Amino acid sequence: MSKKELIGLSKQELGSEIENIGEKPFRAKQLWQWIYFRGETDFAKMSNLSKDLRAKLAENFTITRPKIVTEQLSKDKTHKWLLEFTDGQRIETVYIPEEDRGAVCISTQVGCAVGCKFCHTGSQKITRNLTAGEIVAQFMVVRDAYGEWPSPTNETRMISNIVVMGMGEPLHNQENVFKALKILSDGDGIAISKRRITLSTSGIAPLIPSVATDLGVKLAISLHAPNNEKRSQIMPINKRYPIEEILTACQKYQDVMGMSRMITFEYLMLKDFNDSLDDAYELIALMKKYHLGAKFNLIPFNPWPGCDFQPSSNNKVHAFSRELEAAGYEAPIRVARGQDILAACGQLKSAKI
Ligand code: SAH
Ligand code: SF4
Repeated sequence: MSKKELIGLSKQELGSEIENIGEKPFRAKQLWQWIYFRGETDFAKMSNLSKDLRAKLAENFTITRPKIVTEQLSKDKTHKWLLEFTDGQRIETVYIPEEDRGAVCISTQVGCAVGCKFCHTGSQKITRNLTAGEIVAQFMVVRDAYGEWPSPTNETRMISNIVVMGMGEPLHNQENVFKALKILSDGDGIAISKRRITLSTSGIAPLIPSVATDLGVKLAISLHAPNNEKRSQIMPINKRYPIEEILTACQKYQDVMGMSRMITFEYLMLKDFNDSLDDAYELIALMKKYHLGAKFNLIPFNPWPGCDFQPSSNNKVHAFSRELEAAGYEAPIRVARGQDILAACGQLKSAKI
């Protein structure tokens, strides 16, 4: 009989596994702490469990990390891993350090079915969803690399935030992504607060309210255009879920989370496509109609081999930002990180060449 992998089981599922091998429920709690609070992968080192139990666990279960195929460090300290799972499928995970904190950018699928024209991942066909365990394990690989175990307190941790902005559309793999984020935010383990987790979606409108009702993390929407005509040209999914449906779903998210839980609208600045002042005015008029607690994040386009788009000029990006700010919206310009190792937004790709 093959051994069962424990990473990715919910607390309840872990409890059942422990019960199945004839142990008391509180053992599951201890095991959870070893796995997610201490980051331990070796049953033999779980010192508050009896020797017999340790042996029994090792007979029945595994705690594994994905294989690190390659690891790259950018000039700006952005760190990227190419990870391989047991079936040979690969994804990328990125850590983006700031001065006194940092975010892990996790992937949710091998490839992506949405096929946005500007995205390197989207040019790689979807192969499969990641399991909850494979999503959680990405974060654990980063913690391993920086030795940040046991889970430090909020104030001292360098790996402080999670952005679900890697490869894949998280709401196309909703069940596993939600399960993984619940494990990552659980207070007895890794304990990243839900306020420090952001899920970014291309706009799967019917599922957006569940980000509030079933999960409670922050929401980012990849908007990228001020009207349906333009958005459909670069994001084919817009024909299925047009902007109005997405923004109405965002209202439902904020009905549950409150207006103060700002929604970030990501807007990729593409040269001569969506970067004029008229585009900015149209975007402002659109957003005003929906009365959302909203802010923008202007994203300089990160080129990748074979793409058709060019980044907007600095002047245009700044002028665009000024208009949005004059209309009362925060509109910072995202600093591209890790471009030299293709680790920036939209540059991830893992297909074997
Ligand atoms: N699938 C989700 C999350 C992953 S993409 C989504 O689309 O929201 C994360 C962010 O990177 C999105 O806002 C996406 O639009 C952006 N992105 C994609 N390609 C990019 C590129 N070439 N340059 C900059 N950002 C890009
Ligand atoms: Fe998929 Fe997001 Fe890339 Fe679009 S931008 S192809 S949704 S990963």
